[in-house]
Amino acid sequence: MLMPFLDLKAQFASIRQEVLDAVTRTLEAQQFILGPEVTAFENEISALTGCAYSIACASGSDALILALLALGIGAGDEVITTPFTFFASAGSIARVGAKPVFVDIDPQTFNISPGAIQCAITPRTKAIMPVHLFGLSADMNPILELASAQCIPVIEDAAQAIGARYRGRPAGSLGLIGCFSFFPSKNLGAAGDAGIITTNDAALADRLRLLHVHGARDKYVYELLGMNSRLDAMQAAILRVKLRYLDKWAAARQHNADRYRQLFSEFHLKARVRLPAAPPLCTHVYNQFTIRSSDRDNLREHLLTRGLPSEIYYPIALHLQKAFAYLGHKQGDFPASEAASREVLSLPIYPELTEAQQHSVVAAIADFHPE
Ligand SMILES: *Cc1c(COP(=O)(O)O)cnc(C)c1O
Repeated sequence: MLMPFLDLKAQFASIRQEVLDAVTRTLEAQQFILGPEVTAFENEISALTGCAYSIACASGSDALILALLALGIGAGDEVITTPFTFFASAGSIARVGAKPVFVDIDPQTFNISPGAIQCAITPRTKAIMPVHLFGLSADMNPILELASAQCIPVIEDAAQAIGARYRGRPAGSLGLIGCFSFFPSKNLGAAGDAGIITTNDAALADRLRLLHVHGARDKYVYELLGMNSRLDAMQAAILRVKLRYLDKWAAARQHNADRYRQLFSEFHLKARVRLPAAPPLCTHVYNQFTIRSSDRDNLREHLLTRGLPSEIYYPIALHLQKAFAYLGHKQGDFPASEAASREVLSLPIYPELTEAQQHSVVAAIADFHPE
């Protein structure tokens, strides 16, 4: 391979001493579960998102599950989300015993189509969970209007969108609850699994704080049936180092996206592949730079023979996954999501990517499409 799909080793090399100092500091403190590092990290995420409360937990998937539990969502309830996303969005809904109700995507943005949500609402709808896929916020205003008119809470799956903005407001601060993941491949990645939940609602924050420590307010006194989903101090200490670079890394991703657009135009490829949408009122943080091709699988093969990596997020829409077969969906139920799963291809977009590397990616795509 001429380059990795994501170069975490290059990222580590650029912050090596600071990370090692944070790890050493944590080892010397010998306090590994919650504690001051975690509290400091939560405060920094509150400052970043403008949310009053942040509750760190063990993963982005747990953040979604805790959010649903805090809202009392379970058996007999329905939660609306998109079928074109990572498994955990709908998986968390099913895991708490509720039913994922899918609504198709807007083919331009890959995000849930706000206009199609109303038809999916029933008396059992207990939340709407838009996903800010690939680092681009869903079109939140129509979703929030619809939800508030019917008193339905909105849980944002902002796992891929830390630092993204919608009409100037941070992703994860728009709905009632925001859920973030710090899986290593996200824009802010831990050295393992990690996640956080944000909200401005004091009562919800209080429930979330209990739920992630087995439901205990005081030691060995349990008010709720919670779970063990805490952030390790080691992860918090490392994440605090990386958080200082988040804006710089997002700017580098945006710069690389602009350069791809320029190169695709120079190679006259704009009629051959579709480039990601960049709606004017959104700040895209490009966790992925995802193009569409009608001959995606052969294009990917062609890139591989040239030593160029790419990834398919996501090859099978969730309504067609075996794990969700019990929902009774079939091919054709969500055509825009199914088309996306056949056509999408994500290209390397990580901050350390060079212009020469991007040039080789686009040149290889160009010779797959001879004039
Ligand atoms: C990564 C991701 C999650 C889950 O996060 P984990 O930390 O891996 O559990 C949830 N939703 C989306 C859209 C994601 O990309």
